[in-house]
Amino acid sequence: MASAPCQFPRRCVRLLSWVPVLVVTAAALWSYYAYVVQLCLTTLNSTAEKGEVAYLAMFHVCFGMFSWAFWRSVFTAPSSPSKEFQLSSTDKQRYAQQDTLQARRRILVEISQELPVHTRSASGEIRFCHQCQLIKPDRCHHCSACQTCVLKMDHHCPWLNNCVGFSNYKFFLLFLTFSLLCCSFIIATVSPYFIRLWLGEYLSSSVKLHVLFLMLVSLMFFITLSFLLGIHCWLVTKNRTTAEWLSAPFFRHGPDQGAFDVGLKQNVRQVFGPQRRLWLLPVFSSHGDGQVFPLRRRAASDTPQALPSNTTYVDEEVKVMGELVYLKPLSSYV
Ligand SMILES: [Zn+2]
Ligand SMILES: [Zn+2]
Repeated sequence: MASAPCQFPRRCVRLLSWVPVLVVTAAALWSYYAYVVQLCLTTLNSTAEKGEVAYLAMFHVCFGMFSWAFWRSVFTAPSSPSKEFQLSSTDKQRYAQQDTLQARRRILVEISQELPVHTRSASGEIRFCHQCQLIKPDRCHHCSACQTCVLKMDHHCPWLNNCVGFSNYKFFLLFLTFSLLCCSFIIATVSPYFIRLWLGEYLSSSVKLHVLFLMLVSLMFFITLSFLLGIHCWLVTKNRTTAEWLSAPFFRHGPDQGAFDVGLKQNVRQVFGPQRRLWLLPVFSSHGDGQVFPLRRRAASDTPQALPSNTTYVDEEVKVMGELVYLKPLSSYV
């Protein structure tokens, strides 16, 4: 009798993958204690400083928004492709029965004609995930850590123990933004005490330690987060994911890194949604379903190349949000 595969190593890896999240949580809780209890309630009270209430109010707003965005980034499950992208049991059987790679490719081409997919693999084939048994929608990638295909996958973030993709990219951006805001606020308000500490003025030894670490950790995160947020702001303006920045998506006409760039305003709206009042709140407001994306006109109208010999595609442009175009599902063929 065959024994069941041991699940222990996989469970250990799963448990260990939460360690970075716990580290971030511990750092956040410690900074809360150091700032609120040690600095505002102990030091400012004892030295009769005036800014205590304002400091506390501002810090709680920043910290509250940071915690909310962090929570949503960690616990929002990555979106996976809908059922229409998955192979039916008949198609799976048909696909498995084919002896040649060419025949399997033909089946995928045939199935994909009913789907709104425009990206291809580097070799010009339909992108197919063997693990999930589905045709990957545009901008979708399989994450080996999450063991699923993730819509508009940006990257797998170990600090969140989650994939950053269509469902939580906005939350991730807000997490970076509010983290940076918290660090900036701490640096701005702790700096005077940090300077006094170096000049050898008052402050008990325990407060000294907290002020010192608060300042150093905030500075360290401020530099790192500024760099990271700067890159992601640029990516949003270009409508690129980190994956697409590192490796341009392929189409039938070849690689095209700017294929999804449909203008600054629409690029930002795709991530944050049409309602500006929701932009700074970690609630889902991104545009679309994560499976179909508007394409820049040039990318949409390029002549297809290297088509399978027995297939002819007919692309149709449709108007979206005024001036944008994207291709209809590749359903028209001869
Ligand atoms: Zn997959
Ligand atoms: Zn992942």
